[in-house]
Amino acid sequence: MKAIKFGGTSMSTVDSVNAVKKIILDDPERRYVVVSAPGKTADERKVTDMLISVYEASPEQRVKEFSVVSARFERLAYGLGLPQNFFDEDFNAITQALPSADYDYIVSRGEYLCAKMLAATLGFDFVDAATLIKFRDNVYDDDYTETVCKIGLKKHKRAVIPGFYGSDQNGRVVAFSRGGSDISGAIIARAVNASLYENFTDVDGFMTCDPRIVPHASVIDILTYKELRELAYMGANVLHPESIFPVRKANIPIHILNTFNRNAQGTKIVPTEDFLKGKYERRKKMPITAIAGRKDFYALYIDKSMMNSEIGFIRNALSCFERFDIPVEHIPSGIDSMTVVFSAVADDVANDLISAVKKAVNPDHISLTKDVALIAIVGHGMRSRPGTAARAISRLSNAEINLRMIDQGASEINIILGVSNDDFERALVALNGEFEI
Ligand code: ASP
Repeated sequence: MKAIKFGGTSMSTVDSVNAVKKIILDDPERRYVVVSAPGKTADERKVTDMLISVYEASPEQRVKEFSVVSARFERLAYGLGLPQNFFDEDFNAITQALPSADYDYIVSRGEYLCAKMLAATLGFDFVDAATLIKFRDNVYDDDYTETVCKIGLKKHKRAVIPGFYGSDQNGRVVAFSRGGSDISGAIIARAVNASLYENFTDVDGFMTCDPRIVPHASVIDILTYKELRELAYMGANVLHPESIFPVRKANIPIHILNTFNRNAQGTKIVPTEDFLKGKYERRKKMPITAIAGRKDFYALYIDKSMMNSEIGFIRNALSCFERFDIPVEHIPSGIDSMTVVFSAVADDVANDLISAVKKAVNPDHISLTKDVALIAIVGHGMRSRPGTAARAISRLSNAEINLRMIDQGASEINIILGVSNDDFERALVALNGEFEI
């Protein structure tokens, strides 16, 4: 049996909801459905963005702002042939709560109403995510959710569940971060022990590279969770990066599919390399699965003679990043030097950080390079093939691109290359040319 999630674009118009309905009813295995709130159309904003405006309005204005959202749902319900008073009770309850409601409650109403509408259209049960997905003090509680969800869904043979939110120990609605319905879908897939988590969106799948920079980039047919993590981190944002964890725990593959292009094969994301064996000819030949990158990192270079024998040097330097609450992305290091790569921060924070590191480790030399772009070359295939890094480096050097940093993780499924922001696009094109992905 399959758990299936539809993103906002799939739920945005009467036609797209009808397409969704057809997809679900075409396959009796598709029994548990998770939905986002209706997305953008030619002349309307995403419902979640509209709801953020409701939240930001003054308490007296909120009801008026919400009427734009309710009108949109009414049009959808009408187009889908639902009774005229279908949303009356819910609209009343929401309107009454609005003046004193908090952010999470208000933004979650898009998913709530959307799931109710789809459940009625399909003749499936509606199950409120607040009864299934559990938070404790604003932190998602995975173990408790797993138990509650399993019990809660047992009674329902077919159900539609709103994505994006759950509730805490006091019954208060708590939302995930933006795009969080992907996580809800993964949680539901694990709870019902699905054989597959289908995630329907509006693109054909993950691309081998950013098609705006490399026009001949193609859709990747199959990826492992690990490869996906590396790519998602570098900004390939088809799926919410946290949505992998619940399904990975249960070894459930994810299939990214396009609601609007049913001929596309999509991208399958499988738990381990074992799933790849023998099946995918193209992957056997290719050391690289995809190349992705992001601009605007900073690199702090710290140099001190005999650094390697100074116990606690790295810890002392990194504790400054912790104090300033700056996540560290990479730490390539040499015998007497280390570079700490992190996402760009404000100038005053960068200056304070440098002073703190100087005080903590008393370096011989310290300097900050701004405008660093990182490119990840990702693929399990590189582990068994010598020379992948050498090929990447010499290709960049032939293209006269200065390589500022190179870091290969111990897992040997990625090589991270640092170039300047200005060289970013050229480097992506050159690397694609080298690996012909
Ligand atoms: N509707 C929410 C958002 O726009 C959650 C989601 O779509 O996953 O972020």
